[in-house]
Amino acid sequence: MYEANDELLRSHLYMNVINSLEKAGEHITINRNVLERLKKPRRAIRVSIPVRMDDERVEVFNGYRVQHNHTLGPFKGGIRYHASVSMGEVAALASLMTYKNSLLNLPLGGAKGGVQVDPSVLSKVELEALTRRFTSELSPFIGPDKDIPAPDVGTDSETMAWMLDTFSLESGFSQTGVVTGKPVEIGGSRGRDSATGLGVVYIAEKTLETMDRSLSGASIAIQGFGKVGMHVGIEAHALGAKIVAISDVKGGIYNPNGIHISELLRYMKKNKFVKDFPETTPISNEELLSLDVDVLCPCALDAVIHEKNMHNIRAKIIVEGANGPLTPEASEHLTRSNVLVVPDILANGGGVVVSYFEWIQDIGWLFWSEQEVRNRLKEIMTNSFKKVWNFSRTYQSKENKYNLRLSAMSVALLRLEKAMKLRGQAW
Ligand code: NAD
Repeated sequence: MYEANDELLRSHLYMNVINSLEKAGEHITINRNVLERLKKPRRAIRVSIPVRMDDERVEVFNGYRVQHNHTLGPFKGGIRYHASVSMGEVAALASLMTYKNSLLNLPLGGAKGGVQVDPSVLSKVELEALTRRFTSELSPFIGPDKDIPAPDVGTDSETMAWMLDTFSLESGFSQTGVVTGKPVEIGGSRGRDSATGLGVVYIAEKTLETMDRSLSGASIAIQGFGKVGMHVGIEAHALGAKIVAISDVKGGIYNPNGIHISELLRYMKKNKFVKDFPETTPISNEELLSLDVDVLCPCALDAVIHEKNMHNIRAKIIVEGANGPLTPEASEHLTRSNVLVVPDILANGGGVVVSYFEWIQDIGWLFWSEQEVRNRLKEIMTNSFKKVWNFSRTYQSKENKYNLRLSAMSVALLRLEKAMKLRGQAW
C-alpha cells in the first residue's frame, strides 16, 4: 500500500491501535499471520477535492477513505469533517471499525473516511459542493455491497443525503443503501439518532449490574452533549439515573441532585450550549472528569483522560461514548486501579448496530418501528457485553481483574481469525 504505510506508522493514533492488537495477541492464542495482516489496511484512498468557494476562489481540500478489512462483509464506517483529519487518524478509526463490527457480531468490515476541513467556516453551498465532489471521487470504491459510509464528527444526516444523491446520479438509479444515518424520509432508520447514546446507556446499565447496582439512582457525568452525549443524558434520565454534570466545548454545569434534562433541552434550543443553565453551578471540563460519580461518560473528544489527569479520576465506571477518550497509559492505570473501563469498540457500538439495521431495511425496502429497532439494539448490546464480561473473567490475574479493553479486542480478534481461516486468508 505505497508510502501511506510510512505515514501510518508515524501516526501515534495508528500505533496505539497496533499496540492494543499486539497486547491482545499476547493474551490469546492467535495465528501471527492474522495479526500481521490486520496491522495494515487493505486499501487507503487519498483524493483532492477542489471547491469553488463563495468568493469565487478555488480551494483544494484533502480527502481520505481507508478500507481496513472486509473479511466479515462490506466495509462500513463514518465520514469525519475536521481540521485535524489525517491519513493516520482515518486509518486508526477504520481499523477500530473492523474490531467493533467483529465484536458486535455484524456481517460488516471496517472503514473510515474524512476531509481535512473545519466545516463551521464553510457556507452550506460550499459544504454541499465539497461533499458532492468527495463522493464523486470515492464512487468507484463505495456502494451498498462494497463500502457504506455514515456520519461522524462534523457530518450529519444532510451530508449523507448529499452523498446518496450524488452516488445515485452517477449510477443512474436510486441507491439508498449506499450510506446510513440519512433522513428517515429517504430511507433512514427510525431510532438512528439516539442509537449510539442509547447503546452507551444499555452498556452502563449492564456494567452497574455486575456490581449489583441499578441504573436507576446511579449518578452520571457526561462530557460532550452532541449526537452521542445528549442521547446518553435523555435515555439515562428516562431510566431513572441522576445526571449530575454535563459539559460541552464552552464548559459545564453541575447539580448534585440531578439536572432536569427536558428543561435543559428546551434551554439549549435558544442558548445552544449548556452554560448558565438555571439551578446548576458552573464546572470546568477537567472538574467534570474528576467527579466522584458512579458512571463517567466521556462523549466528546479523544485522549481527554491522560497521564496528567488520570490520577484525579474518582468514577467507579467509565463508559467510552467517544472514540479513544482514554490514552493507553490512562486506560491501563485506571484498569489497575479497579475502575471498570468499558472500551469504545463495545460502548459506542450502538450507532453502527442501527446503521446495520438501516442498511438491511434499505436492501429489503421494509422499514421497522422505533420500538423494534430499540429491542434489537438492546439484544445485540447486551449479548456483546456478556461476551466481553465473560471473557474478562478468563484473565483473572491479580493485577488486572477486569480488563474489558483487552477482552473486547480479544473477542473481536478471535471471530476475525475464524473467518479469515475459513476464507483461506490466514495461512
Ligand atoms: P458532536 O460533534 O455531535 O458532539 C460533540 C460534543 O462534544 C459537543 O457537545 C461539543 O460541544 C463537545 N466538545 C467539543 N469539544 C469539546 C471540548 N474541548 N471539551 C468538552 N466538550 C467538547 O459529535 P458526536 O457525534 O457526539 O461524537 C462524539 C464522539 O463520539 C466522537 O469521538 C465520535 O467519533 C464518537 N462516536 C460518535 C458516534 C455517533 O453515532 N455520532 C458513534 C460512535 C462514536
